[in-house]
Amino acid sequence: MQLQTVSFECPFCCVTLKKGVSINIAESPQFSDGFSSDSAIHRLVQCPVCNEVFFYDGLEIKSSTDPNDICVNTIEPGIDRYFELLKNTDLSDEQQLYLRKEIWYMGNHHPDVSDEVLNNYDFKTQWLDNLEALEKLLSEDDQEQMLLKAEVNRHLGRTTRCIELLDLYKGERDPKFVKTIRKKARKGNTEVFEI
Ligand SMILES: [Zn+2]
Repeated sequence: MQLQTVSFECPFCCVTLKKGVSINIAESPQFSDGFSSDSAIHRLVQCPVCNEVFFYDGLEIKSSTDPNDICVNTIEPGIDRYFELLKNTDLSDEQQLYLRKEIWYMGNHHPDVSDEVLNNYDFKTQWLDNLEALEKLLSEDDQEQMLLKAEVNRHLGRTTRCIELLDLYKGERDPKFVKTIRKKARKGNTEVFEI
């Protein structure tokens, strides 16, 4: 995985921040829920100086950094900050979709959080509520979103709905992949798998 460092200003406290961004995402393993193990693609960052959380991809990226600038690494926000941000009504549908997908992935792929999801009742409820909201948010008019919607339904154990959506799918993904989802759904398998 190749990394490139980008720097930008914190929109809250104006300190110069830097972050490693992957420039070769295709090499990382991909999963059926759309997750890639490349953590460097996270768009949500936390400023370690003021602790505010924000999307950095809409900000102006500085091409070169003045060596006199204080330049600190961004930190990865905790899952509670994702939930907190979802209460923000200014979010675009696309940003909301991103946050809800990331919360789903944390339960599926993060070993520490998985334990938390399994063992903490309140957290698990919140996580499942998020998954329901994600399912509603995913549109049947967009082929990629519809495939993901099918995958969320399989994950929730709704086999019939999953297969119904797969039948409608006319996108360009490898037919083998779609067939595998269908097969797993029929067997009642709700596990996310590596493609
Ligand atoms: Zn800041």
